[in-house]
Amino acid sequence: MRVLIVEDENKLARNIARALTEAASFAVDISSDGEDGQHMATTNPYDLIILDLMLPKINGLEILQNLRHRGHHTPVLILTAKSMKEDIIRGLDLGSDDYLTKPFEMAELIARCRALIRRVYDRPNPVIQIGNISINMASHTVTFKGKQVMLPAMEYRLLEYLALRLNQLVSKTEILEHLYDFDAENFSNVVEVYVSNLRKKFDPGPHHVLIHTVRGQGYILGDIPQ
Ligand code: CA
Repeated sequence: MRVLIVEDENKLARNIARALTEAASFAVDISSDGEDGQHMATTNPYDLIILDLMLPKINGLEILQNLRHRGHHTPVLILTAKSMKEDIIRGLDLGSDDYLTKPFEMAELIARCRALIRRVYDRPNPVIQIGNISINMASHTVTFKGKQVMLPAMEYRLLEYLALRLNQLVSKTEILEHLYDFDAENFSNVVEVYVSNLRKKFDPGPHHVLIHTVRGQGYILGDIPQ
């Protein structure tokens, strides 16, 4: 999952980014002014945008209005020091999906982010079961045949993304766009390496029954052979 933080308090933005990466394996980009934030939000397929309201150049409510006006459906969580009811109501009425007022608990922000992303992918249950694999997005854990499996961050990120899009064709481009932030080196051949690693752990044997390759198109995670 890839998240954009539009926030001009740099230290706070970095703390949120670190927490989201560590606790939820999200890829995170940070933008520190409204103009750049709006540009990034409209040119990348983010799964979620965390939006401050008082920002240099373009304020958060204006960004939100512009995004919705242009048909961008990415969920937006407003994170603002303004605790005034009018701003929150205006934000929600302009198309924000959730809000949190500063100061806030990091754990609550992360939980809200997870909930918003589950909603986008129409997976209200945080536990996704595929064959013998169980992915708990709330606790960020994976079990296989009842035993917990510790996955490197990128393998978890890929497995979770494929699981959220269960039984759907996921292109390599989509994987690269949703799993990597701007700072990451996204060489497309690494996707194959991660898929291969996941198969060794969850889908061994000559005939893959869980992670299916659709030649030249991408991958499908599903327990029913496609
Ligand atoms: Ca601000």
